Amino acid sequence: MNQSPVICWFRRDLRVHDHAALYHALKSGHPVIPVFIFDTDILDHLPRTDRRVEFIHSCIAELKHALQAKGSDLLVRTGSARTLIPQLAQQLNAHAVYCNRDYEPGAIARDAGVADQLAAHGANLHSFKDQVIFEQREILTGQSKMYSVFTPYKRAWLKAVTPFHVKPYPVQRYIGALSPREPEPMPSLADIGFCETNLRELGVKPGTEGAEALWADFLDRMPDYHVARDFPGKKGVSYLSVHLRFGTVSIRELAGYALQHQDEGSQTWLSELIWRDFYQQILWHRPDVVEHAFKPEYDALPFPNDPALFKAWCDGQTGYPIVDAAMRQLNRTGFMHNRLRMIAASFLVKDLLIDWRWGERYFAEHLIDFDLSANNGGWQWAASTGCDAQPYFRIFNPVSQSEKFDPDGRFIRRYVPELALLHEADIHAPWLAKPLNLKAKGIELGRDYPLPVVDHATQRELALALFKR
Ligand code: FAD
Repeated sequence: MNQSPVICWFRRDLRVHDHAALYHALKSGHPVIPVFIFDTDILDHLPRTDRRVEFIHSCIAELKHALQAKGSDLLVRTGSARTLIPQLAQQLNAHAVYCNRDYEPGAIARDAGVADQLAAHGANLHSFKDQVIFEQREILTGQSKMYSVFTPYKRAWLKAVTPFHVKPYPVQRYIGALSPREPEPMPSLADIGFCETNLRELGVKPGTEGAEALWADFLDRMPDYHVARDFPGKKGVSYLSVHLRFGTVSIRELAGYALQHQDEGSQTWLSELIWRDFYQQILWHRPDVVEHAFKPEYDALPFPNDPALFKAWCDGQTGYPIVDAAMRQLNRTGFMHNRLRMIAASFLVKDLLIDWRWGERYFAEHLIDFDLSANNGGWQWAASTGCDAQPYFRIFNPVSQSEKFDPDGRFIRRYVPELALLHEADIHAPWLAKPLNLKAKGIELGRDYPLPVVDHATQRELALALFKR
């Protein structure tokens, strides 16, 4: 074996199995040194208590352990990845860095900078598709343009996919090419400047171990996904998003399984994975969506942006129980059910008349599974400014959504305990309940739970007028 090593730079792909970059690095015939950087260019902008950082930290500890068990190690450093990766390559005399592609504009710029610095010392950056089934320009319309509507994209995706696209990378076959290393200690969460969160208390299991447990639990439920997925009070979804975000599970394994199962539940779930690819390719083709509406004509909607209404929404104090339960779930756990993301986003934009970018930022700060492409796509969809958006005249009614998707109020009761005693006929719109019913349960609106901060019917008209203009 040639002794000049190569680096495998782990980023949002925190596993040793079915890993494109690791596979190619191992196959290169050079000893492979695995590296992870706690990137201060990202971390410096985060609050010191952040569930994502704790989640990643635990994943890194697991990854390091797995690599040590194979006689190697994961080199863990803290600093700017842009400068540390080229520096490490020089120190280790590595002539190449292998990594998996990231489609976010910031990551693309970082990687271009790293590639330039490596090139200045005669080293290369090799990047691979790993986190999606199809990327960049792989699925295009007949006119070689990107798809901006999901259904035809999905059709083309399903037509293009073959067993090859979901075949796992046989990393284990070449694992002997890992560079043997003396184990280095793992920095603590405090060493990288962060504090513990309530992640353990919530029962969130990080790492590939956590992903495997969720996957195993979901397999039995997948056939019912199409009927159960819209009800936040039921265990109907997979909860795998944070693992897909940080790559503790392989998208090929998940999509490969769903492709093999023709039942409605599996096929509906596969569609969700295709949505994920869809938004990733939108972000790659249209990086301007990060700041701007996908449809330019909606970029400058004159939202009133009332800060007091925004605060009520953030705090789960709008007086609309389903919206408040959703926001409290987010604040308390870092997760929000998909149906609730749609309701909460629609309510912010079309009831509170607040710019979708405010809500997008709030979700980005609080979601443990925050993913720029899916979050931006979801917000622009709900705000009717994006690709494949619901038309602006279709406005979610938070009360009928609540009655339909949390019929017995089970989810509301969990996160809005002050309403827990209310009858299911009253829990979705307590301001419409008979005063005697409220009194019987010891509830006074305005004291124990807010009166609605806005009137949906009035706001609906204002939203329609604002969009029409
Ligand atoms: P499941 O229902 O089990 O779906 C499986 C996987 O498919 C998910 O883990 C996710 O990776 C993917 N997926 C599902 N729905 C979507 C979708 N609409 N778009 C893209 N991928 C999807 N998802 C994120 O991963 N990160 C985000 O930051 C994010 N922000 C959102 C913001 C808004 C306003 C909306 C409406 C949706 C957002 N989503 C986001 C999509 C979706 O809500 C979550 O992926 C889902 O709730 C995660 O739960 P799950 O893993 O149980 O999903």
